[in-house]
Amino acid sequence: MAVRTRNIHRAQQTIPQRIQYTNPREGHLIYRFDKDLGILTSPKSFVDNDARRLFAIHQIMRPHDSAVLENVRDWIQTQLPVESYRDSYGNIVCDVGNNPTIAFVAHYDTVHYDQGFQTLYFDSDKEELFVRNSDCLGADNGAGVWMLLELALNGVEARYIFCDGEEIGCQGSNYLATHRPKILSGIDIAISFDRKGYEDIVTHQMGQRTASDEFAESLAEQLMMDHMPDPTGVFTDTNEFADLVPECTNISIGFFSQHSPNEVLDVNYIFRLRDALLGVDWEQVRVVRNPYEVTLPWSTSRNKSFDDFDSGYLDPSIHWDELNKLERLVEEHPREAAFLLLEAGYDEPAFVDAALYLYDQKYVA
Ligand SMILES: [Zn+2]
Repeated sequence: MAVRTRNIHRAQQTIPQRIQYTNPREGHLIYRFDKDLGILTSPKSFVDNDARRLFAIHQIMRPHDSAVLENVRDWIQTQLPVESYRDSYGNIVCDVGNNPTIAFVAHYDTVHYDQGFQTLYFDSDKEELFVRNSDCLGADNGAGVWMLLELALNGVEARYIFCDGEEIGCQGSNYLATHRPKILSGIDIAISFDRKGYEDIVTHQMGQRTASDEFAESLAEQLMMDHMPDPTGVFTDTNEFADLVPECTNISIGFFSQHSPNEVLDVNYIFRLRDALLGVDWEQVRVVRNPYEVTLPWSTSRNKSFDDFDSGYLDPSIHWDELNKLERLVEEHPREAAFLLLEAGYDEPAFVDAALYLYDQKYVA
């Protein structure tokens, strides 16, 4: 308890007491900073504790390396029902239950430029949380942080991992996998809640398989919300654990247009997902993937070197359709495409070489 008191004291020193945002049921309402609780509160009759926590995490802009993260870490730790600890990178870890085999993972940093408070708005028709005049809402991954707190507070036995630095390249989770791999020993399933949309249970990240279809399908069956295995995941923290943990996935958490001022969070969906997760019989969720086995992503198309082009690998008469589809995707997601190329072994000179070869062979005009 001593720790908690100190944390709250520190939070009081730094969090300013001017907050205003929209109450989902009653329209605009001024909220106040509760000195005793160390969190933002509203009259209890209006908003339940789970909703208050959802607002609290989303009203703080919290980019990596910002001073406010210290408050955010304190806040997360004071919300947790069990003792947690921090590593030197800032990741927070705790166990609910003994020797858990499931890890729930979220990152608490956002892509905001500013730090501190932002005003939240709620569209009661769409049941969406959103912001105005801000870089983003930060449901990526505030929604995930909230989900972990909900599961922990409801006693779901698991290891809970709150990572820093996901938005600058999964640095917090990479730190764990590299320097504290014991954190992941005994863990069969690692689940991030850092995926847009409503229906994905990610099976591949960066083109590599990180979770089996059997796992994704059996979890979807348990959730009963029409989720499906999704091989198109880009990457999040659980990708860093894929060499250590059999089933590493990322589940749709109901945000859209993340990393943009138009980001929204479907509050109805996230509450339904929480309730569904509380009903999961984890004994029925299958663990199949072997994390030590190196799999080639998307069947054969990756890890082909420049030399492979000579052996007729790139046959335009077979691949035009696929190329056209991919070209559109690359235009829409250049950053992701660059990541995938780098992962596949193409740095800048290798890419230029290969591109010149394609011109030579008249594969491209
Ligand atoms: Zn994220």
